[in-house]
Amino acid sequence: MEITKQWREHFKQLRAFDEAISLLYWDMRTQMPEQSAPLRAETIGYLSTEAFKRQTSDSFAELLAEMTATEELTPTEVRSVDVAKTQYERNAKIPPAEYQAYVTLVSEAETAWEKAKDKNDWGTFAPYLEKIVAFQRKFADYFGYETHPYDALLYDYEPGMTVEQLDELFQTLRDELVPLIRQLKSSKHELDWSMEAAVQEQICHDWMRVVDYDLSRGRLDATVHPFEITINRRDVRITTKYDESDFRNALFGTMHEAGHATYEQQIDEALDEVGLGGGASMGIHESQSLFFENFVGRSEAFLRSVYPRLQERHPAFQDIDFDTFYAGVNEAKPSLIRIEADELTYSLHIIIRYELEKALIQGDLTVAELPNAWNEKYREYLGVEVPNDAKGVLQDVHWAGGSFGYFPSYALGLIYAAQLTETLKSERSDFETLVHEGEFGPIKQWLETNVHRHGKSLTPNELIKQVTGGDISVRPLVRYLTKKYVTE
Ligand code: ZN
Repeated sequence: MEITKQWREHFKQLRAFDEAISLLYWDMRTQMPEQSAPLRAETIGYLSTEAFKRQTSDSFAELLAEMTATEELTPTEVRSVDVAKTQYERNAKIPPAEYQAYVTLVSEAETAWEKAKDKNDWGTFAPYLEKIVAFQRKFADYFGYETHPYDALLYDYEPGMTVEQLDELFQTLRDELVPLIRQLKSSKHELDWSMEAAVQEQICHDWMRVVDYDLSRGRLDATVHPFEITINRRDVRITTKYDESDFRNALFGTMHEAGHATYEQQIDEALDEVGLGGGASMGIHESQSLFFENFVGRSEAFLRSVYPRLQERHPAFQDIDFDTFYAGVNEAKPSLIRIEADELTYSLHIIIRYELEKALIQGDLTVAELPNAWNEKYREYLGVEVPNDAKGVLQDVHWAGGSFGYFPSYALGLIYAAQLTETLKSERSDFETLVHEGEFGPIKQWLETNVHRHGKSLTPNELIKQVTGGDISVRPLVRYLTKKYVTE
């Protein structure tokens, strides 16, 4: 068989595993009877190991070497080989016995974290985190880096991003946001956001129709922790959680996941054949969900157009005027919990985590010093006092799961989303009219052409440069937030 055909055959096999694993996982999180859990976990584990073996086998190494030596490759194939090679080399650098020990540690650490968070007991979790940080520092050394060990860990989430770049972006953003947040006035409105789940579901479907999420190639189901999952390019599903005490969570959460899903649905199918059929990075993926959730979903143009229908479905809001509703869904105030934070203060939660985990990996901060350092930064950047570790350093699962280098993607998502939206608005001056009239087709088209269809064939840097004509910059985000929260 021709070498490039073998190459495609390899990714076809991986896709088959992926599709099976994803569908089993989706079922586990939405439909599966409780008793089935241990058997399902075993099956998913088996299939994942089989898929991993195919990516690390000697025969794949030979195929990779042959592809690397082949001269007449298309630019997409060259990129495909690059990405696969980097991943192969990273996988090969960790000694299997160490990796096995690490996987076991992380699974124990997650359980320990859950208990520690419940009981507000940092002391029982700290020893696990110390071991995880030690592993991560070792992994960074195995992977290799030029200037900062944290760079080596960033690759899994944001290929090409470095501490040098992040330091500059985040310092600028922090220095802009801290004074901006001090100017916030406390909100006057206290609305009752409760709503029956069945009504929330109807409104979510209304909104999905407005933003044109393609339900002929997707689904919306209920779950406990919302997620988007790609079964295959023509079956990209989303889930949401109907919180009866506050319907904003389901509505904007659904918009968020629909943004992720629309990205996946619009990636060029041909890229799947060479392993480039995913998002460019976690940050770019998040930019698409945040575009749907905030830049469209929380915009005046969108909310004005959907509000009358929402009032019809939910008569309790019949007498609430639009301005009050709008202010209520765009409430911004410093808070303790990242996942409850608004779009204005959110980045600061991330910057705090970035600064701390970078220092842990560098060895400038010990795990023992972490809770105090956390509390100090919350005081300094957000002006809030952390009452206990459960509402502070213990709130997120990421570190327990060994995900060092993940947090920056969330803030990068906001930064990218603001840059892309600014460019989109400059090219489509009718953007707000389109949103207001529920004419989402041209917007989806713009996203497909400029962002979505490229999949992993461009790095985040290349993509941003190609679309906006410039480098990654926090300026558009600062402009957007200042306009919305200070001058309005
Ligand atoms: Zn997301």
